Amino acid sequence: MQRGWFWIFLMLFVGGLLAVPGGNRATVRVAEGFDMPIAKPNGDGYYMSRGFLSYHPGEDWNGVAGGNTDLGAPVYCIGNGYVTFAQDARMGWGNVVIVRHAFVEGGQLRTVDSMYAHLNQIMVRKGQNISRGQQVGTIGTNRGMYTAHLHFEIRKNLFIGINRSAFAKDFTNYYRPSQFIAQRRNLPGAGQTAQVPVDTYKTDAPGFVFPSSGGDSRGTVKKKPASSRSGNFRVNRFDDVGY
Ligand SMILES: [Zn+2]
Repeated sequence: MQRGWFWIFLMLFVGGLLAVPGGNRATVRVAEGFDMPIAKPNGDGYYMSRGFLSYHPGEDWNGVAGGNTDLGAPVYCIGNGYVTFAQDARMGWGNVVIVRHAFVEGGQLRTVDSMYAHLNQIMVRKGQNISRGQQVGTIGTNRGMYTAHLHFEIRKNLFIGINRSAFAKDFTNYYRPSQFIAQRRNLPGAGQTAQVPVDTYKTDAPGFVFPSSGGDSRGTVKKKPASSRSGNFRVNRFDDVGY
């Protein structure tokens, strides 16, 4: 069988498997490898100040010079993908970008979400296809809540979004970020595309309302009454301290 047909069948097959009933899909360029999100491609000059823990299912990356010396430094997308979230999520998050990636491993198409949080600036939009190494934003402090650092997660589970407290913070839902990248610097599939499900987060539901900037210092995500069928959805920073 010719290589081109193999990929077409693979995409159709996996696209079907990944489909959310009634959900939307997007076409993405397959990630042919992943790089570190700071000081691309290798993260030189940065260190992990906090790793993957039972309450912190990601990694915090800081510049070696310490303090806020890395404030405003560029944050890069780890691989080709599709932006599924790009906005101020308030609470302990601040400005968040999430990118959905399709990649080939062991002859199978797989998906992950990479999350970049506490950004000072967001430089991409939801719905955008972006490239490996493209700048998604800059390192920030989430309004002075933290010393500047990048909070970085990689999720197997495509439903988490910013609703992290609803999912187990373990390796059923997450990868250990720097290990994930180190093991996948070069992958097959360059130049190929794939279908991924989109609009998989609670926050994508019709009628979901984010708190307006400047208000709601307690950090509760409000839901528009009556118009939404998505049920109760609250995120409380005091229940979910691992930012
Ligand atoms: Zn963190």
